[in-house]
Amino acid sequence: MTMPWDVIRTDILAITSYPVPHAEGFIKLDAMENPYALPLPLSDQLGERIAQVALNRYPLPRPRQLLDKLKCVMHIPDDCDVLLGNGSDELINLIATACAKPGAKILAPVPGFVMYSMSAKLAHIEFVGVPLNVDLTLDVGAMLRAIAVYQPAVIYLSYPNNPTGTLFCDSDIERIVRAANRSLIVIDEAYQLFAQRTWISRVSEFDNVVVMRTVSKIGLAGIRLGYLVGLPVWISEFDKVRPPYNINVLTQATVDFMLDHLDVLEMQAAETRAQRARLALEIKALPNFHVFPSSANFLLVRVVDATEVFNALLRAWILIKNVSKMHPLLVECLRITVGTSDENTQLIATLKNTLL
Ligand SMILES: *Cc1c(COP(=O)(O)O)cnc(C)c1O
Repeated sequence: MTMPWDVIRTDILAITSYPVPHAEGFIKLDAMENPYALPLPLSDQLGERIAQVALNRYPLPRPRQLLDKLKCVMHIPDDCDVLLGNGSDELINLIATACAKPGAKILAPVPGFVMYSMSAKLAHIEFVGVPLNVDLTLDVGAMLRAIAVYQPAVIYLSYPNNPTGTLFCDSDIERIVRAANRSLIVIDEAYQLFAQRTWISRVSEFDNVVVMRTVSKIGLAGIRLGYLVGLPVWISEFDKVRPPYNINVLTQATVDFMLDHLDVLEMQAAETRAQRARLALEIKALPNFHVFPSSANFLLVRVVDATEVFNALLRAWILIKNVSKMHPLLVECLRITVGTSDENTQLIATLKNTLL
């Protein structure tokens, strides 16, 4: 008899799988989703477009028209190429696979996005986490020392960072890029519409910088599309490890359609930015709630007892993320995705009730 543990890698057997909570019926403020649906005439038009897609055909592996349109709409420099991924998550895995030389290392500030370390682990690469300062800003000194010691193949800088919401400062990033002249720096701009800052226009200024984006946080989490922008020498190497048909025809058609209607998603993001400001003010006003500055569509909040607040919200059918156990710098911290105006009102009301 063959059992999984006879066959599967021991380090894989030891992993507890990523828990995605059952969220039906909840106000969902746990996963940085855009809370707004596509407005009506648009969703109908999209439906018609989707109905015409040839489901019996494989997708185009490098859809030239779509890539050109993406480059144009997203102001991607002419001398850069684009690689599409099934979410940025896939791109992160492709980067790890492509860079997994013996002894290679991937480095990122911690606490940071879990996929950076996960992808390293799966590709048998050592992950080096460099702790942020206690105020969750970048510890540039520690970063530069770690880069000198470990000579990482890849450095991830999430701009802004998840789960802290912090936007690392440009001059710090530039110091790291210049010091790490034997590393590839991946600037992860998953929250670009909420930060309204980008490195995309500067990619070709350096030989070691690529920028990664996703449509997940701006209203299209369900279609799974991420993209990597870089000089053709980098993109063509990563393209070799991409599964040939990684972007399905429905996703390609939807992105093509949505690129003509980006203003809708931009307006929704603007509303979320306004709600973020409001939510931060109202949570700050609660006794013993500390709100960290955020350039993303979520707030990191430190409370006295994170488990208690998390459970109180759960009882009120509001789901957030308790990140207290993720890293020592996040003790008693909760990550709250900014919702609609109504959802945020309910959140605040529930928080006030728990304090009574
Ligand atoms: C959500 C997130 C991503 C992953 O996005 P997908 O495209 O949904 O895979 C990547 N990076 C950061 C920092 C994120 O928060």
